[in-house]
Amino acid sequence: MWMKDDEKSRLVAMTREEFDAMMVGKYPKIFSDRNKPMSETCMCWGFDVGPGWHPIVADLCEKIDAVGKKFGVVAVADQVKEKYAGLRFYHHVIMDDSVPHIETELPVSQSDYDVAEGIIDDLVSHAEGESYRICEVCGEYGKTYSKGGWLTAWCEKHAMENGAIGKPVTDEERRKAIEKRSKEIVKELYDNDQAIGTVLEGKKLPIDKVPFRVVVSVIESATRDIDNEE
Ligand SMILES: [Zn+2]
Repeated sequence: MWMKDDEKSRLVAMTREEFDAMMVGKYPKIFSDRNKPMSETCMCWGFDVGPGWHPIVADLCEKIDAVGKKFGVVAVADQVKEKYAGLRFYHHVIMDDSVPHIETELPVSQSDYDVAEGIIDDLVSHAEGESYRICEVCGEYGKTYSKGGWLTAWCEKHAMENGAIGKPVTDEERRKAIEKRSKEIVKELYDNDQAIGTVLEGKKLPIDKVPFRVVVSVIESATRDIDNEE
């Protein structure tokens, strides 16, 4: 991400409320669910990230808004939060019927939609990946630190101020921590006959005999569940 220093400082200095109001005002379509009830969207919680990540979120939204306008789609945000020291920008892409395609002036074709969705997903993944190396407090270059088992992205100064002791957590350590939790969830689901039992049409196999593809699909949904755990 590239951004002018003064623009970056301006965004980092904003309070959560100021940032929220600015983003919702600037991107009403992306944040159309912002004020919907908790029963409909997790976007009701607002922007659940530290000020150091305001520039990443602002930059991401500028890009996905531009892609959306070009292709006639909208990436509607479902939740913006920090999890395991990384940004999560959950969203879904819808056709924007109010805007004809900028060049053809026709409604969006399925292939345009697919291309746009792919670009938006890539932009989101990139921003999420970048966040691990950006201090959530000040926006300076940082790393993932562990404090009492909680992972947070901090620069050296803020890691020390927050009492995070020791070396930063490596990507490998973070991956292992998430994998460990995924396995625990798979085990819980298996023991409770949920998910795995359903996929196998009620036939309960010993856990080591469960087909690999089933475990993978359960882990994929479990990882999503982990993200949604509070
Ligand atoms: Zn910092």
